[in-house]
Amino acid sequence: MRYQSTRGTAPILGFRDVTLTGLASDGGLYVPETWPQFSRDDIAAMADLSYVETAVRVMLPFVGEDLTEDELRALCTQAYGRFSHAAVTPLVQLDHRHFLLELFHGPTLAFKDVALQLLGLLFEKFLAGSAEPLTIVGATSGDTGSAAIDAVAGRHGVDIFMLHPKGRVSDVQRRQMTTVLAPNVHNIALEGASFDDAQALVKAMFNDAGFAGRFRLSAVNSINWARLMAQIVYYFYAAVRLGAPERKVAFAVPTGNFGDVFAGYAAARMGLPVERLIVATNVNDILHRALSSGDYSAGTVTPTAAPSMDIQVSSNFERLLFDAGGRDGGALAAQMRGFEASRAMRLTNAQQTNAAEIFASDRIDAGEMAQAMLWASQSGETIDPHTAIGLAAARRAEVQGPVVTLATAHPAKFRDAVERATGLRPALPARLADLFDREERYDTLPGSFDAVTAYIAERAQPR
Ligand SMILES: *Cc1c(COP(=O)(O)O)cnc(C)c1O
Repeated sequence: MRYQSTRGTAPILGFRDVTLTGLASDGGLYVPETWPQFSRDDIAAMADLSYVETAVRVMLPFVGEDLTEDELRALCTQAYGRFSHAAVTPLVQLDHRHFLLELFHGPTLAFKDVALQLLGLLFEKFLAGSAEPLTIVGATSGDTGSAAIDAVAGRHGVDIFMLHPKGRVSDVQRRQMTTVLAPNVHNIALEGASFDDAQALVKAMFNDAGFAGRFRLSAVNSINWARLMAQIVYYFYAAVRLGAPERKVAFAVPTGNFGDVFAGYAAARMGLPVERLIVATNVNDILHRALSSGDYSAGTVTPTAAPSMDIQVSSNFERLLFDAGGRDGGALAAQMRGFEASRAMRLTNAQQTNAAEIFASDRIDAGEMAQAMLWASQSGETIDPHTAIGLAAARRAEVQGPVVTLATAHPAKFRDAVERATGLRPALPARLADLFDREERYDTLPGSFDAVTAYIAERAQPR
């Protein structure tokens, strides 16, 4: 399997290199040159497979020559062995049509663990025997940070620098990052910054040849292809349990950076019969506007109770625009340059028409989110604000078959918001019960390129 950049001019890479790289050198994102195809028989044969075996089937075509099937199986067994549910990502039924796919049974209680536990092991595998240390730079709206830190804390030859917008992540989210005291973990709170600002800083570091050239930089944000690859698995796993390939299943996905739902798009392109992918946004609704009217224009970010979706510029949307727009790297590069200059663009007719074949979208406000939490509680389920946004969109969508809402975080991660909406205060799982007694360590920096790069340059190991 080979990977190409969405902007057409960066070198073609294999799986190992695409995993260790972040942004492509032309500013684009890596995508597979072709989508592996799964026939109806291939999908039917997944009916009795465990999560790990499903993962091996789904991911094997993507790893090419860089891992054997047994190596991939060993990594998946180790990564998903850390999940606290035997099904890894269990389905929970709410009524005759609605299901939750619980993706939060990993170590840091959000779906980011599904991909990052594997990515941490892939880094270790691909770096074994290499003398060059890896410098991971990431921006987080809350959940990627803790999941990435958990995946690499204490690992030899890796430093991680994680930027979060100060005061804009929940206390549980912050403490899950800042109480990891391993010396290779560096948490940075950016003063006066939004997640978009933090993400833009990270992209600028990758694009700055002077800075990027001094370190072996790598990304853990969903600009990293391996993350999306690992997320394709649970779409197959859930759909098969609900009757695929005989029955089509719809998925509602609370969306920020368009990574999770792009994995669903990839699953559909690989042959999984998906009735619809419902993109659910909060009031930061650029993706809803883009998919419903072709208007991709960034406003300012409004902080909400679902901070992991407080995003206006969705990195992975570029991957959809590339694939749905006919895979023309030159044209997409021009379109994205226009967006970067004016923070606004229109989708082409082809992009809009092709996206509309599979995507629906909705924008959910605070009241609708709270209502969805209450509705789920009638089935005995306490859900977090992100999941509630997905569920609200799922209930309003016009679909025929079963609808699976991706439950992206454990409710305890956002217990203040859950308590406000439902009166119930979810308890932290036992392994995090002492989170608020642990020592915290992080530095606060102004959100400027110079301040952040100087901080990293002082602490990272040069190549
Ligand atoms: C990251 C995150 C999202 C958004 O996922 P994207 O892949 O960025 O679209 C939604 N919910 C939770 C809880 C998250 O952590």
